[in-house]
Amino acid sequence: MDPVPRYKIAIVGAGPAGYFTAQALQNAQSDDLSFSIDMFERLPTMWGLVRSGVAPDHPKIKTVAKVFEKIASEPDFRLFGNVEVGTDLDIEELCPRYDAVVMCTGSSIGKTLGIPGEDLPGSLSAADFVPWYNGHPDYVNVNVPLDGDTAVIIGAGNVAMDCARMLGIEPTELDPTDTASHAHAALHASKIRKVYIAGRRGPEHAAFTAPELRELPKLEHTDVIIENSAVQEANERAQAAGEIDKQLASNLEAWRLIAEKPLEGHDRVMEFRFLSAPKEIKGTDRVEEVIFGINEIKGGKVVDTGETYSIKTNLVITAIGYHALPIKGISYRDGKVENDEGRVLGTNIYTVGWAKRGPSGVIGTNKSDASDVVKLLIEDLGPEPKNGGDISVVIPQAIKVIDQAGWTKINAAEVAAGEALGKPRLKEVDVAKLISLAE
Ligand SMILES: Cc1cc2nc3c(=O)[nH]c(=O)nc-3n(C[C@H](O)[C@H](O)[C@H](O)COP(=O)(O)OP(=O)(O)OC[C@H]3O[C@@H](n4cnc5c(N)ncnc54)[C@H](O)[C@@H]3O)c2cc1C
Repeated sequence: MDPVPRYKIAIVGAGPAGYFTAQALQNAQSDDLSFSIDMFERLPTMWGLVRSGVAPDHPKIKTVAKVFEKIASEPDFRLFGNVEVGTDLDIEELCPRYDAVVMCTGSSIGKTLGIPGEDLPGSLSAADFVPWYNGHPDYVNVNVPLDGDTAVIIGAGNVAMDCARMLGIEPTELDPTDTASHAHAALHASKIRKVYIAGRRGPEHAAFTAPELRELPKLEHTDVIIENSAVQEANERAQAAGEIDKQLASNLEAWRLIAEKPLEGHDRVMEFRFLSAPKEIKGTDRVEEVIFGINEIKGGKVVDTGETYSIKTNLVITAIGYHALPIKGISYRDGKVENDEGRVLGTNIYTVGWAKRGPSGVIGTNKSDASDVVKLLIEDLGPEPKNGGDISVVIPQAIKVIDQAGWTKINAAEVAAGEALGKPRLKEVDVAKLISLAE
């Protein structure tokens, strides 16, 4: 009997898309088909945005990492952590050695507003602020000025909401979380007491999801404000626009609950400002003020009224989306890997997750995405595996590759260090120290 053909697949990026791609390949194995999987990750730590994006006060979401570790423990799975594709290893070196290469490298660069003053110190992107508080080694030294009393978050999605909560909640609520130590200390010392969240359109258009909105009235040390009239008008506009789907109905109800909750007089306040379009960030050596244009909705369209208002602040965080950081050897369009339903045409390269779709969807969305793309990948496989030689010999010797055993040690060390402090883990943020934990 012929041996079962074993195709070699490289997965680049150890985030949800990468692990779910590995899982879809593992699930597709049969008596006639098998895969050996090599996963490459530029950091010595795994799990992508599950580690460096998901908010520390949402620990349940991160339990999906157990699924990732199960996938990594299956036979014929090898991890090459601390290896950056495009820098340490070229795409041209990967492609001939694998039957397919799947780019799962995410979308890590924050979109900008393109308004004057955006480059002033104190104006940052959520793409810098979030990995700062989550202990991503590249963002430890981001300057987050927390000496003013007011912060302004621009954006109306869940990332904006995470940023607002991290600045707006009582810092002791972060004590039992895995917030990076430097950020935890800085947030404890923070003078910020008022956090504005500004959206260009109305509450009915906001991309916040209902569970995130429903959390707000439950905050123990923070008053959350949205004008009753803003919620009523949003309701009227939504009714007038036609059918209200389940999700919008749930959001509108969540807004009503926030608006109707009596304020408790906390010194920490989060306030939503809708129909507010940032026009300019003003300041001499740092951010001092944000000027907003006031919008209105006319015939279902957002229209500038020509009126403005301003908020004095030293910290502005923009959370309006992400685009991919280009990797040498890959072509990009609209901030995503150029692809046709996950295929990079004319190559043996595929893409899954935020690198493919852009920054949309929850962790689970990447699972169905991976399974769709793996179906195409299998359709495209040649009759025989390629046998292009092992990648290990190509990786520069100076690079300390973190394999699955090494990552397991890092993970265990962080969890043990956190346990003593009543936290799920104490993140190490220094690459050299992470590497030494793997030894
Ligand atoms: C702030 C924030 C909060 C979120 N909160 C939630 C939430 O609460 N619930 C939820 O369901 N979803 C949440 N999401 C969405 C979720 O995180 C994404 O759907 C998911 O992480 C996308 O997976 P991905 O694998 O495509 O990208 P990523 O998670 O970004 O993973 C990409 C991986 O590729 C690696 N990589 C990049 N370039 C290279 C290279 N050249 N070589 C090797 N490796 C490379 C990166 O280091 C990273 O590990 C959140 C997203 C953000 C930004």
